[in-house]
Amino acid sequence: MSGVKPKVLVISAHAADFCSRAGGTIANYVRAGSPVRVVDMTYGERGESNRLWLSRRNLTIEEVKAVRKEEAERAAEILGAEIRFMDFDDNPLTMNRERYEMLTSEIRDFRPTILLTHWLKDPLNPDHEVTAKAALWACVKAADPDDGKPITPNPEIFMFEPSVPTNDLSEFRPDTYIDVTETFDVKLKALREFKTQPGLPEVYTQWGMFRARQAVLRHDVHGTPGKRDVRYAEAFKRYTPWTGKYFPLSLEGC
Ligand SMILES: [Zn+2]
Repeated sequence: MSGVKPKVLVISAHAADFCSRAGGTIANYVRAGSPVRVVDMTYGERGESNRLWLSRRNLTIEEVKAVRKEEAERAAEILGAEIRFMDFDDNPLTMNRERYEMLTSEIRDFRPTILLTHWLKDPLNPDHEVTAKAALWACVKAADPDDGKPITPNPEIFMFEPSVPTNDLSEFRPDTYIDVTETFDVKLKALREFKTQPGLPEVYTQWGMFRARQAVLRHDVHGTPGKRDVRYAEAFKRYTPWTGKYFPLSLEGC
């Protein structure tokens, strides 16, 4: 990347979602000099902390939150991203006027060029759906001058994987693959910090290889050189439409 570096904001429902879905992409942007900020809506204290709850009796919700917060902070540090926590409580994650305004303030404060968040449909984890819709609402609100606050231009929005592997239920059909081969080791190191969810590294290694295979398939079929060395990829669905004088091209050097 040359010129002004894009600013990347990642809005994540639970403690680990930003890392499992977009950790390699985050590390790519950090390496290229982009500021990256993660906003965790919740710590995943109820819905994604089973192992912790089973580890000890009489554990309090505050103790679980503290553990998940530390895990997320360590992972974000490894990726090179800043992280903030909304502490909105999960499972179910609910939004109200105050919380919408808080999320809008995050967007106004950071002024992202690129926003990454969840896919809109995830029947197995409705918190992900709530987060996606809230992020979209906050982007619209941040670009609205009606309350006299500075207007924040809408970022390019890309949505990451729903609960893996439930694409049949969630109708997630990615159209954007980010090559994370060079940063996958960083992603794995960060994922290992989530001791409460020890299965993440294995699941997302398999999924990263699967997405890489999808990413290169079209190029293999057409014999395009330079794309077959993608060993790990992260998949996204573009939400904001591409606008330009020409079509976006994924060939090397374009
Ligand atoms: Zn989650």
